[in-house]
Amino acid sequence: MRRIDPKNFSKATRGTSREINRQIVLTLIRTHQPLSRADLARLMETNRANITLLINELLEEGLVREGAQGNLRVRGRKPTFLYINSAKGVAIALDVRATRTFMMVTDSIGKQIGDIISFPTKYDPTEFVASISWQIRKALHDNGGIASCEGIGIVIPGMVDRKTGTVINAPKLGWKYVNLIEIFEKELPGTEVHLENSGRACALSQIWSTREDVHGQNDSVFVSVSDGVGVGVVINGELIRGKHNTAGEFGHVPLSIDGPQCSCGANGCWEAYVSNLATLSRYFGRNLSRKQPESIEVVEFTIEDLISRARSGDSKALIALQSTARYLGLGLASVINAIDPSFIYIGGEITEAWDLIESQVREAIKERTLIKELGNTPIRIVPAVEHPRLQGAVALVTAPAFAAPKVA
Ligand SMILES: [Zn+2]
Repeated sequence: MRRIDPKNFSKATRGTSREINRQIVLTLIRTHQPLSRADLARLMETNRANITLLINELLEEGLVREGAQGNLRVRGRKPTFLYINSAKGVAIALDVRATRTFMMVTDSIGKQIGDIISFPTKYDPTEFVASISWQIRKALHDNGGIASCEGIGIVIPGMVDRKTGTVINAPKLGWKYVNLIEIFEKELPGTEVHLENSGRACALSQIWSTREDVHGQNDSVFVSVSDGVGVGVVINGELIRGKHNTAGEFGHVPLSIDGPQCSCGANGCWEAYVSNLATLSRYFGRNLSRKQPESIEVVEFTIEDLISRARSGDSKALIALQSTARYLGLGLASVINAIDPSFIYIGGEITEAWDLIESQVREAIKERTLIKELGNTPIRIVPAVEHPRLQGAVALVTAPAFAAPKVA
């Protein structure tokens, strides 16, 4: 899936197909709405007649709606503005984590409706789908009995095959080759279900963002650090998947072959050094595993607790975080050396401690990158309040109407 850059789409207007022109119009309206037909003609450097033709089609299909806006008057009458028709139905976004699953309901252009809720993640796939379906039915009922759900986007901490809807390997959940779409078809027949890996969903959330500073970042990497490490790589504006859906699995590249055990079965993976559990293990001085919980204190203690202890002067907590920072930087150096992106995004709970760890991260990157310029690769922190995983999950449902996979 490739995003149309609303500021640079000249490639798509030269003798392009009707389908691509439709996608450009939809993208422009979504990014700049409300827009008049005259604005659109100007932005696309085409005449009003062409625009009228395209808009009439989109109005007829219910993808676009008309509305007046505010006090703007042109020669005494209010111009008619165009909007994306967001009332078509709702999209459901799910962020599945080893501990809990988070759910957000949005309109058809990805705007949040109501609060984000969370519930414990069931490890048995059939029970998992049943619990999610129950939550979805409840959410639709609570939102005024909205009948139409446009689709469900699910973010999984593991490798997925989007085409078949199969979770290929999610070590944290203990799932291998689980076809979720088949199970969903029994619970919610006819509903579109899209799966994506968590790191890639985060990368997608940035491609799909209408935030100004995101535009034009055609080569970027998103590193999401939480229960595990998810990495999404975008090259030439396109998310990289690979032949078998494992492209970008930097989380399982070893920093040391003698390092701590990883959930994938190997030793010393990057994830085993920088995940939240790895940081907590360092703090408590022993290897923790959520599968064999120790004391209640250990189980209920979160990375956020550790960060606040570090802030209130607990030097052990600060040292644990700074070790993570060093390992994070060493792994990021490998990512930068391999991809040479124009930008790196970092998300996850660890970003709340960014002011405490930034210098260690940058120092480690500089130490291991192959040339000086790579050491200065810009890093952008994506705070937890932006919910990149959930935004990526929504994009799985809503973006295909706007993205132009065929644009060269
Ligand atoms: Zn691993």
